[in-house]
Amino acid sequence: MWTRGGHRTGIYGDSSTNATGIDDIDVDSPPPLQFIISGPNSCFNYLLFPSNHSRSSKFFSKSTAEDMAQESYEEAIAGLTKLLSEKADLQDAAAAKIRRITAELAGTTAGSNSFDPVDRIRTGFTHFKKSKFETNPDLYGQLAKGQSPKFLVFACSDSRVCPSHILNFQPGEAFVVRNIASMVPPFDKTKYSGAGAAIEYAVLHLKVENIVVIGHSCCGGIKGLMSIPDDGTVSSDFIENWVQICTPAKIKTQSACTDLSFEDKCTNCEKEAVNVSLGNLLSYPFVREAVVNKQLFIRGAHYNFVSGAFELWNLDFNISPSLAV
Ligand SMILES: [Zn+2]
Repeated sequence: MWTRGGHRTGIYGDSSTNATGIDDIDVDSPPPLQFIISGPNSCFNYLLFPSNHSRSSKFFSKSTAEDMAQESYEEAIAGLTKLLSEKADLQDAAAAKIRRITAELAGTTAGSNSFDPVDRIRTGFTHFKKSKFETNPDLYGQLAKGQSPKFLVFACSDSRVCPSHILNFQPGEAFVVRNIASMVPPFDKTKYSGAGAAIEYAVLHLKVENIVVIGHSCCGGIKGLMSIPDDGTVSSDFIENWVQICTPAKIKTQSACTDLSFEDKCTNCEKEAVNVSLGNLLSYPFVREAVVNKQLFIRGAHYNFVSGAFELWNLDFNISPSLAV
């Protein structure tokens, strides 16, 4: 089913304030899609209606929806351009947004090689539904009743390291947390409640038997950690603050690998950061208890997508300097 929510973020714009909810729409006969691009002024909300899978979408202002509903792509783009010229007092953000949307619309009509994210999502789900969902009724029937995954996996958000892809996890096999550099923060009810909730749910409610933290080659998050100057100056709102969870791995790498190149130090830190995360897992009382009772096993891993190698190791209580127990 091609399910749509009523209040969401449009692909071409910011979150909607007045989207119409459309639920449980069959993928084989999708209705017109609606994307809401909200500007600071309500008269600059727009709807995009692809019709019958084609690119002959209608793009129009809410205030002139009836009039523009029959216009072609080209006419809609021309209308937007005219609107831009007439509304010179538009706030910069709204004007820039309309220019971008206009350019995107023009781009989708310019040639067949342009990327259409909606088509990509639709064809991807159609492929999944036909080749997997409809051919495995027993599996998906069972999953409809509940999940009982054996693994909780921490993996990086990096688009190249999806654990379900590289480890061939099937639906229902792995409860997955992905974040920058696949880090497990220490127990902290306020600062890291998102990670804590996932670990708590996996361990206490799903009763997973294994936790695997997977680092990877060429990790941008680890490179960012290793690049933070000694005076601690940061230039990002979130990234550097987040990756400093594994500062102990950086310190250990810097002291133990003085002769290595920066790239090799990063590789070493990618693995040490995994060990810091393994140690941080033990700062969660319910994880610690399950490990002691041998109901839960914790492992570290490193996936090298350059050489195609995958290392797996057990928790070593002597490795992590940040052991928080
Ligand atoms: Zn990464």
